[in-house]
Amino acid sequence: MHDIKPGENYEILIDNMAHEGQGVGRIHGIAAFIEGALAGEKVVAQIDKVSKNYVIGHVVEILEKSKDRVDPLCPYSDKCGGCSLQHLSYEGQLKFKTQKVKDNLERIGKIYTRINDTIGMESPFRYRNKAQFPVGRVDNKIVTGFYSFHSHNIVPIESCMIQHEISDEIAMVVRNWIRKYNISVYDEKTGKGLIRHIVTRVAYKTKEVMAVIVINGDHIPYKEELINDLKENIKGLKSVILNINTRKTNVIMGDHNITVYGSDRIIDYISDIKFEISPLSFFQVNPVQTEVLYKKALENADLKNNETVIDVYSGIGTISLLAAQKAAFVYGIESVYQAVEDAKRNSHINNINNVKFISGDAEKVMPELADKGINADVVIMDPPRKGCDKSVLDAVIKINSPKIVYVSCNPSTLARDLRYLEDNGYRTIEVQPVDMFPYTYHVECVVKIEKK
Ligand code: SAH
Repeated sequence: MHDIKPGENYEILIDNMAHEGQGVGRIHGIAAFIEGALAGEKVVAQIDKVSKNYVIGHVVEILEKSKDRVDPLCPYSDKCGGCSLQHLSYEGQLKFKTQKVKDNLERIGKIYTRINDTIGMESPFRYRNKAQFPVGRVDNKIVTGFYSFHSHNIVPIESCMIQHEISDEIAMVVRNWIRKYNISVYDEKTGKGLIRHIVTRVAYKTKEVMAVIVINGDHIPYKEELINDLKENIKGLKSVILNINTRKTNVIMGDHNITVYGSDRIIDYISDIKFEISPLSFFQVNPVQTEVLYKKALENADLKNNETVIDVYSGIGTISLLAAQKAAFVYGIESVYQAVEDAKRNSHINNINNVKFISGDAEKVMPELADKGINADVVIMDPPRKGCDKSVLDAVIKINSPKIVYVSCNPSTLARDLRYLEDNGYRTIEVQPVDMFPYTYHVECVVKIEKK
């Protein structure tokens, strides 16, 4: 057992980066995770937390600086929990992400394969099409913003460099309306107060805008005034919706929506396919990089108009519909009933008829398809962070498709799943990381996998 204590300062050489972006070094042989430090730096760190095998701290002084260190562009970066790589140059962020993928694949999966450089954005700012601002009271003032690191304390924020400008403007209009009419805001501790969150959706191609006010109740006072303020100030406003969430929960939105102005949905495009977006629909948040990601996925699938494709975890049908344009038939499998309904609607409005969306857990549907003896030329999988269940991978192996395209938002579960596929007759050909979330530690990958 070591004798490092919270509050103590240590000089540390940082030789690595942890997966959430902290610098990693050693104190008397014990791993130290240091917030705000970069690989290659020598820092003085203060220890905040100790456990048996590692300690956690933060930088108090930089003795030797990394060449990748930059001054944060965001004035809220030391408080807001949204971005964790503000002190790292964009080029440095891309290198960090490539290395993170490589480390995970090699350490967890023992996968040694071609890993391309992470594809970044030309302009890594203002890229998000969806914002969720908590509303609350700080120092007795009504504010909107984001939560600080690992907490539910609101950091008041008026402009966020990774959100679309219109999202900032919607927050401002609603904030001013709350202040002007003295409307109550939600208090997580007591469960009382009306306005909980402001959620925005901005369609980058059609410029249509949706504003959602999440409320702890079933109506708002001064509704017409709010709608008029939004109409006057927000360009492209197509929809204002009240989302009812009266539960005492961390989940931002409830199930029930009331459209108080305009339409229930807005429309956006990915490539030349139209998608309808409603308040609860999952839609990739970085529209520019989504096209890059899906283009790579389809390039790997290499469709020639005569294949059968299974798209597992199909959401509102984005990948399925893109694939359907180049394949004979596509099955989409998705567990959220509403997403399947949206996917069906999306296939309908695009006149794409060679798809079938199946509602159900992949753990159940995939083994059924395998037992029926379905033939698939390509399986595309885009699972949530926890990756694929073994039953899904077993079904893919049984279906014996010659090609798999795995889209992953978590390199560690990707590594585990690739190992399983490699042990069962498949080979990982190429991994392409794509930066969907600049300034955060997240990285997305498209992986090309073939039957050995
Ligand atoms: N491919 C889509 C969605 C990817 S997100 C897109 O890019 O837009 C992952 C999706 O998997 C979500 O829609 C989620 O609802 C779904 N999902 C999560 N667990 C699932 C399961 N066990 N079976 C089927 N779908 C699941």
